[in-house]
Amino acid sequence: VKRVYAFGKDADGKNVTEGNTNMKPQLGGKGANLAEMANIGLPVPPGFTITCQTCMEYSNAGNVWPEGALDTIRQYREDLEQRVGKKIGDPKDPLLVSVRSGAPISMPGMMDTVLNLGLNDESINGLIEQTENPRFAWDSYRRFIQMFSNVVMGLDGDLFENAITIKKNERGVKSDTELTAEDLQELVAEFKRIFSENVDLAAYPDLAQDGVAVFPQDPMAQLKLAIEAVFGSWDNPRAVLYRKQNKIDDNMGTAVNVQCMVFGNKGATSATGVAFTRNAANGAKEYYGDYLVNAQGEDVVAGIRNTSPISELKHTPGLEEAGKELEDVFVLLENHFRDMMDIEFTIEQGKLYMLQTRVGKRTAAAALHIAIDMEKEGLITKEEAVSRVEPEQLDQLLHPQFDKNATYDVLATGLNASPGAAVGEVVFSSEDAVRVAEEGRKCVLVRWETNPDDLAGMIAAEGILTSHGGKTSHAAVIARGMGAPCVCGVDALKIDAEKKEIVVSGTDVVLHEGDMISIDGTTGIVVKGAVDLVMPELTGDLDTILEWADEIRELGVRANADNPEDAELSRKFGAEGIGLCRTEHMFLGDRKQIIQKFILDENEDVRAECVKQLGELQTGDFLGMFRAMDGLPVIVRLLDPPLHEFLESPRALDVAIARMEEKGASADEIAAKRNLMAQIDGWAEANPMLGLRGCRLSILFPQLPEMQVRAIATAAARLKKEGLNPQPEIMIPLVAFESEIETLREKAEGFVAAVAAEEGVELDIKIGTMIELPRAAVIADKIAKHADFFSFGTNDLTQTTLGFSRDDAEAKFLPAYMEQHLLKRNPFATLDDGVAELVKMGCEKGRSTNPALKLGVCGEHGGDPESIMKFAKIGPDYVSCSPYRVPVARLAAAQAAL
Ligand code: PEP
Ligand code: MG
Repeated sequence: VKRVYAFGKDADGKNVTEGNTNMKPQLGGKGANLAEMANIGLPVPPGFTITCQTCMEYSNAGNVWPEGALDTIRQYREDLEQRVGKKIGDPKDPLLVSVRSGAPISMPGMMDTVLNLGLNDESINGLIEQTENPRFAWDSYRRFIQMFSNVVMGLDGDLFENAITIKKNERGVKSDTELTAEDLQELVAEFKRIFSENVDLAAYPDLAQDGVAVFPQDPMAQLKLAIEAVFGSWDNPRAVLYRKQNKIDDNMGTAVNVQCMVFGNKGATSATGVAFTRNAANGAKEYYGDYLVNAQGEDVVAGIRNTSPISELKHTPGLEEAGKELEDVFVLLENHFRDMMDIEFTIEQGKLYMLQTRVGKRTAAAALHIAIDMEKEGLITKEEAVSRVEPEQLDQLLHPQFDKNATYDVLATGLNASPGAAVGEVVFSSEDAVRVAEEGRKCVLVRWETNPDDLAGMIAAEGILTSHGGKTSHAAVIARGMGAPCVCGVDALKIDAEKKEIVVSGTDVVLHEGDMISIDGTTGIVVKGAVDLVMPELTGDLDTILEWADEIRELGVRANADNPEDAELSRKFGAEGIGLCRTEHMFLGDRKQIIQKFILDENEDVRAECVKQLGELQTGDFLGMFRAMDGLPVIVRLLDPPLHEFLESPRALDVAIARMEEKGASADEIAAKRNLMAQIDGWAEANPMLGLRGCRLSILFPQLPEMQVRAIATAAARLKKEGLNPQPEIMIPLVAFESEIETLREKAEGFVAAVAAEEGVELDIKIGTMIELPRAAVIADKIAKHADFFSFGTNDLTQTTLGFSRDDAEAKFLPAYMEQHLLKRNPFATLDDGVAELVKMGCEKGRSTNPALKLGVCGEHGGDPESIMKFAKIGPDYVSCSPYRVPVARLAAAQAAL
């Protein structure tokens, strides 16, 4: 195997680069693009790259070098010395190198770098001689010892910073630049002493001389230790966390780039800087970035001195030529890579060197703007423009965010369940949320988990925070539907809603009602106090890209919505219909007591009256929905949840009874409550999600589907008479058996026909089913004979296929599964491959007996770009998702088609 690749020129000026930009998996992003820049003739200081695979082999073997690797590195080092005509560690004219990490996917600042490698007590003299600048030489040596000790040996950086401060105080100067060559020489001696006192000799026996640790003088020993440190930094905690957050594979490893040093700190004609070829914040076509005269790269990043804007470079005396050349490089790089590029450069005594380039990170607004501009410039096609914007990034444009300049301490983290940020007073109940909102203040509703009862509070609150439940929990689904920020499953919050207090485990923080908190549903962060928010600007660019996306995509996009406002909003966002209207959401608020009475009252007449009332209310709901979606399909699902979700929780009743007893309520009152509790207890099931719900409700309580179907048909008939074109469809949930849909369909058809006759209009209402159980997918050919459409309910299908409770798994064991690499993704957020097989089978078998069958997906996965990629390959005609995800899904569907 080839482990090392050269880049740059040889002594005769011939390009000897072995890699190119397509070799990121081997050479990392930095190494591959250094090679590419050398190949297209840009001034790249020569060097070589050690592959990512070598890093992984070294790491997997327990930090043992693969056989022969060190010999190869030695050869490449000697070859490099020959190419530049200098030797590392040479006492007369030493070559200095940098040793930098560079993974296949950029992980900015997460891994290690060592600069000025090759300096020792001998070569320092050569550097002084060559540069005739003792101050520069000693400063380079002290920087090297400091960086090497901190990065490679893991010594505390403060040990060195403190020594510098003491030296400055001794000399009575304020800034590092005022220290003289002699001061720096003394600091070098001091640093070496700190090194000896703090290095653990047990870990580094090779560094012992007479029982004392000595700063390594042999360049090859320095190089080996530095490369090992960079390899090791792949697994440092912050890199591991970064990969987790950004879904980067832990097995890629990092490459190591060993490259000749160039110096931006050799006086007024030297400089260093970072730049973007366009404005990374708003996408404007202008050079964007900063530089510092007489400085090294780390000084720019550290922000210790004020930088100058890149536009001034070519007007800076002594840097004019290099400044002009840099602008030519910008143009060349954009034309070559056909994208906005991010660049690091150094100017050494007037000569420009390129140290890095990569595709530049940008905000969502900039991504849209640049993609559209580049298409107009003829640099890229429409298809490429559409592929240049991350679907997830669009969320940035649709919700408020924490101000990037705000500083804050993270109090706790949970699942980023619904994007956007919210700030407000802590409230613990739906009623309090409504009250606070009515009083004109902002609040965040904090609950153990929400339930349908909390809806009013969820609407009134700025955001929702729960300690339990996953990304498909009630709080998460409803919040996403409303476009409200939500962080859920924050395990660290111990919520006592009675006492109105939150204890945050692992801290001494206790929050009370009225305390300000901030949540960021985009990242899952919870902060004590108010963080400044910003509302990103919506630009016309979003529309343009989405129009282009619509031209490309094959998958349809509908919305999950259950009220006219959401229907209208999703239509504005480009939804082509409603894929799922959850009718249980229409039974809340004032209406809840009606359904409760229906469930609990033993008198048939009373119950029939309840159904009648509900029917009238539902008709009104559907009139609003169908009107908002006129001309487009609206799939209405018959009642699905276990009925006891509409009842009070026995736990709450228990508490209420205890309180009544305490307050001395009458025996009758208490007996009545106890009776109610017994009745409610009778409805309890050990596994409600596998219990009396879905179409089973329709079988046991036929008055419910009759009422709902009649309401749908009546609303449609009335709108037709108004001259509108309503397109309702009826969906039967949780079907497992052919017989279930057969009988329920027949009945529904009867009700529709009856209403059509009553109203005197023709009604053609499609009837279909959800596929949410493995059995339904497996016998889809049989079910399809009775269905006009299928909609895959991948929330339940995931739950029932994996046997993972959608309400508990994300809080209880999924994080451990992901940490231990047993699972790569949360299957409730990104479609699991096993579930995908069932969806595929369902589509194929369904179409085999009913070619006209329309196939959709309405689980949460319908709004997840990665899942959309999978759906595009396995058969559904459309996906359906929360209104705010519709733009994301349109873009993702287009990318899936490319
Ligand atoms: C599903 O199960 O995927 C679905 C859409 O239904 P619900 O989330 O309402 O159970
Ligand atoms: Mg379901």
